[in-house]
Amino acid sequence: MLKLTDISWESFAALGLESKKPYLEHPDDPGMPYHTLFAQQFDRSALERLCALANRIRFINKSKEGALYLKNLLTHKRAMLYFSQPSSRTFLSHLAACQILGITTGSVRDAATSSEFKGESREDSIRTFSSYFDMIIMRSPEQGLAEKMAWELSNSERPIPILNAGSGKDQHPTQALLDIYTLIRSFETKGGIDGRTVTFCGDLMRGRTVRSLSYLLTNFNDIKQIFVAPKELQVPSDVIDILREKGVRYEISDDLRAATRISDAVYMTRIQDEWDNSKGESAKIDTHRFKFGAEELELLGKDAIIMHPLPRRDEIATCCDHDPRAMYWRQMRNGMWIRAALIATVFGFEKTIMECGY
Ligand code: ASP
Repeated sequence: MLKLTDISWESFAALGLESKKPYLEHPDDPGMPYHTLFAQQFDRSALERLCALANRIRFINKSKEGALYLKNLLTHKRAMLYFSQPSSRTFLSHLAACQILGITTGSVRDAATSSEFKGESREDSIRTFSSYFDMIIMRSPEQGLAEKMAWELSNSERPIPILNAGSGKDQHPTQALLDIYTLIRSFETKGGIDGRTVTFCGDLMRGRTVRSLSYLLTNFNDIKQIFVAPKELQVPSDVIDILREKGVRYEISDDLRAATRISDAVYMTRIQDEWDNSKGESAKIDTHRFKFGAEELELLGKDAIIMHPLPRRDEIATCCDHDPRAMYWRQMRNGMWIRAALIATVFGFEKTIMECGY
């Protein structure tokens, strides 16, 4: 088994994501991650196991006895939520997932309130947190920081797991897990997700959820991916390279209506203008044809769904919100269950939960 203690940071950082995967595996459960850093760590069997566990946790939690059973499982564990980038739903979703499992949490949400303000490096801050906690759930604007921290901690005397809750413009693996869970649940009784067409629309250039989900979809059979965006915000070439390499069908388009007619899922995203190089850069892009409203709803198939990682601006009109095909609120709740499933798995409790009497 490959270990992060056997490789220098420089050599590890230089590897491709698929080659990094074995270094991040769980020592007691090699199909699952120990450090969760990017979507490339999950194959179909890992995804199906996590979805089954999320369903199980959701079911057990329905009764008071079941909820108390879950709440007693991980009372001996503590998790640190280190969010140095704005977040409300992802922060609360991880917090709620920890609460379901009885994990005690601590949080730092603003580097200005930590010793980083006194000039401490992020590496030192995270080493400090690892002294008090058993897992670090982190979000950072810095691409690659979660990876660096995973390597650092694995090479320290407290090698606790890192869970990436969003890194730069790069990856958002737990969002992709909840998106897959939502797709699996939506098509569960309608023939499953193989063979489906998924359209991504909006800021595909800088939306990290798109990169992570596009990869996870390659684990399923014959899924076509359509990327609809203004040309300035089209999907980056690294995403397309992976699809080509894996022989996945895809299409680049600027016609949301045409894509909506043939899609089983339309995944809308907001313009990520916090990454603009100059003030007002995104506002100059004409985005009016990349919004989902009443007319697009008319074109959408009766079993198709609309998704969004949220927060939304005006890319989905509120008139769509009460349509049964609007999945974005359910996506959020699904996030809490699948994150609880992932955290329980990292702590080695999958089998206990799957086999308990509830
Ligand atoms: N909440 C998602 C993210 O953290 C999507 C977004 O911010 O637009 O990437």
